[in-house]
Amino acid sequence: MEKDNVCINCSNQIDKVAKILKLGEAELDILTIPKRILTFSFPVKLDSGEIRYFTGYRVQFNDARGPTKGGIRFHPEVNLEEIKTLAFLMTLKCAVVNLPYGGAKGGVMIEPKRFSANELERISRGYIREINNFIGPDVDIPAPDVNTDSKIMAWMLDEYEKLKGRHIPAAITGKPIALSGSKGREYSTSMGGAYVLNEMADSFGMNPKKTSVAVQGFGNVGMNIARILHEWGYKVIAVSDSHGGIFNQKGFGIKDVIGHKNKTGRLSKFKGAKEISNEELLELKADVLVPAALEDQITKKNAGKIKAKLILEMANRPITPEADEILLKKNIKVIPDILANAGGVVVSYFEWVQNSQNYYWSESLVLERLKIYMAHAVKELSRTCTDFKCDMRESLYVDAIKKVLEAERLRGNLR
Ligand code: GLU
Repeated sequence: MEKDNVCINCSNQIDKVAKILKLGEAELDILTIPKRILTFSFPVKLDSGEIRYFTGYRVQFNDARGPTKGGIRFHPEVNLEEIKTLAFLMTLKCAVVNLPYGGAKGGVMIEPKRFSANELERISRGYIREINNFIGPDVDIPAPDVNTDSKIMAWMLDEYEKLKGRHIPAAITGKPIALSGSKGREYSTSMGGAYVLNEMADSFGMNPKKTSVAVQGFGNVGMNIARILHEWGYKVIAVSDSHGGIFNQKGFGIKDVIGHKNKTGRLSKFKGAKEISNEELLELKADVLVPAALEDQITKKNAGKIKAKLILEMANRPITPEADEILLKKNIKVIPDILANAGGVVVSYFEWVQNSQNYYWSESLVLERLKIYMAHAVKELSRTCTDFKCDMRESLYVDAIKKVLEAERLRGNLR
């Protein structure tokens, strides 16, 4: 088979698991070569009247377990290799939480802050026009990701429905509630991570009231998990955004921090806080470290300096494989992204179900069901990895890969 499209990061990431599961060549091909890769360029008229071309990607990695599912990000560092890796991780993530989905991811290489709201709307609509024939409720269902939100999903859905000439809300998730979105979706990624942490707290001998937390990233995910954990009695001692962080050993009242950030646009100059850099935040002596920003934050350069006892990966792939090895040797436990941040796609699934049935759930029902899905995935993990002394990432990969390959086998795509 032509190997041009291989996802190099995926091969590296499944190296160890491939040996444990004794995977053959056909199995490795399925797990490292995306089913469909779309790379396209599209014109957008800027406010100045100038026309600019943008590059977009959508990678549909594997659809054996169901339609592919995953977000679309707007970020200057978006590139095809990264999107392939993230689409692979979505495939595993959906399997970990037992959703009837495969995995996908998309993106546009832009710095969204440089564009006006009107320009972002035209970029969002232009992106959807390019992929409209390759997505749909039973094919591939986009959602928000880094720098994309419910407003952008609304424009994307509107463009899609205009092209198709009818209402198809289940084509995109993460929509505003007034446009058939789901209650609770906005903070579901964070709530899912908080449920996972609480489910595991006992096995780590952790009492929330005596547990300090440092959160890197104050976007939707970081801000909400800081808020939720604070409400549940955890002591949030540090938070940061892309400009830098703030620290207070006594802990923050997160509502006040959010108010300050909304008012000034920054975290800095918050009353009573010491200002720290993002690097310093990662190396703080906190019980739990929550990277909730971007990929590759903990690398072989700083892994040796991490002092947290436990890392809850709310961003996708915040720890490089080399850093993972170092943390393992230091006996720092890592709750991997494909479990920790799966709450978002779980509630996306609930949104899709509600759209398909045209019957909408209360917020408490959404949260109750989210908790059941997350708790079940934690139980499955602990079965594979009984006393949490093992490497959780390896266990989750083993479980998820088995589920994907079983679906391929049942379809007759593998012997
Ligand atoms: N972008 C989120 C993720 O990485 C959500 C994806 C979705 O809801 O489809 O999990």
